[in-house]
Amino acid sequence: MPLDFPTIAFVGLLLYFSIALGFSMILLVQRDQWVPRLWAGSLCAGAVSTALFSLPLPIPEVALVLLRNVVAMLCSVLLLAGVALFVGRRPPWKAALALAGLYLLGIAWFSVVTPDLRVRLVLYSVLFIAWKSWEAWLLLRYASAEVRISTRLAAGVFLLDALVFLLRALAPINPDAAGDVLRAGLPMYITYVGGLFTTLAQCFALMLMIVERQLAQLRRLARIDPLTGALNRAALLEDGQQQLALCQRQRRPFSALMLDLDHFKQINDSLGHQAGDVALRHTVQVLRGNLRHYDVLLGRHGGEEFVLLLPGVALADAAELAERLRAGLAGSPATGAGQPIALSASFGVAEAGPVTDLDGLLDQADRGLYRAKRAGRNQMACA
Ligand code: GH3
Ligand code: MG
Ligand code: MG
Repeated sequence: MPLDFPTIAFVGLLLYFSIALGFSMILLVQRDQWVPRLWAGSLCAGAVSTALFSLPLPIPEVALVLLRNVVAMLCSVLLLAGVALFVGRRPPWKAALALAGLYLLGIAWFSVVTPDLRVRLVLYSVLFIAWKSWEAWLLLRYASAEVRISTRLAAGVFLLDALVFLLRALAPINPDAAGDVLRAGLPMYITYVGGLFTTLAQCFALMLMIVERQLAQLRRLARIDPLTGALNRAALLEDGQQQLALCQRQRRPFSALMLDLDHFKQINDSLGHQAGDVALRHTVQVLRGNLRHYDVLLGRHGGEEFVLLLPGVALADAAELAERLRAGLAGSPATGAGQPIALSASFGVAEAGPVTDLDGLLDQADRGLYRAKRAGRNQMACA
């Protein structure tokens, strides 16, 4: 099928502008975020560089070549910076700008001093392959597990893009091109036809990365109690059920520890609700400080009641830990409303049997807790 280059270039231009415009809309809903800003900037620069390629502009040829390449470098550097930032790395501005600067010097040399279209095309392809491999490497090496699907897809698209430019570097140039890149023939067909495909795929991959990161953040927020940072009840029960089942399959012990702050209502009533909130946050800090060496799920079961689930820990060790936590809380008052707030808690401890479910285990721990309350508070009781 004969392909008409001006038509392809025109369609490519339209497509590139609509992609840049469409992607930039993300900035309307993702404010104050650098990654989408950098990527939108990169896509807009890409659209402008395509326009500089495709439109007949009244600019001297050498100036046009340099301008196109400067804008193309801007496109690449911004994309790379966004990718680095996305995976939690500092954007490699110096290295990227040095590479882009070297490339532009090369282009200037082979446009002005010894004009050579072939060398320019190969130079661009080699550099493009370097950018894409750099981006793919950052994604595969540093992306966290929570964005694994989208970053792997994006790395695949970048590597495919690199392959397109490898083909372009190897493709023969039209002998009548006379230094005009638009008449270079096969290399330009590969750039535009391959580019139509990979640019669109890249745009979707970048959007997917943003969406996957947001979903992971929402999922994380939906599991956390916003006041104390402990797991909320739903997450505690979900994770706890899984861990309990695993321990039962592996015939390992599994204990639960339930604690309830003593006379907490008095703190609210005498010092105010905010001091009560401070006391709740302080409680979680003290618990965490004493749990560093434990593989434990710590959750806020409700109000001023917390649950610790301890995979691999038997009743005697759980009781010892409860005693240590009790002493720790009683020995470190919180500070709220400008004064120390003495805290204590009562603890119930229970160990799961081979077929106990999580509800049953928590019920036993709750009974222990109730006994500790009735026996005078600030103490621990086993079920
Ligand atoms: P006990 O020793 O029997 O446990 O007495 P208590 O006063 O701790 O128990 P009670 O259940 O009567 O009161 C619990 C209080 O915890 C009541 C409620 O207002 C308070 N509370 C629950 N959630 C929060 C919260 O998020 N912030 C604050 N400040 N208070 C809370
Ligand atoms: Mg209480
Ligand atoms: Mg309570």
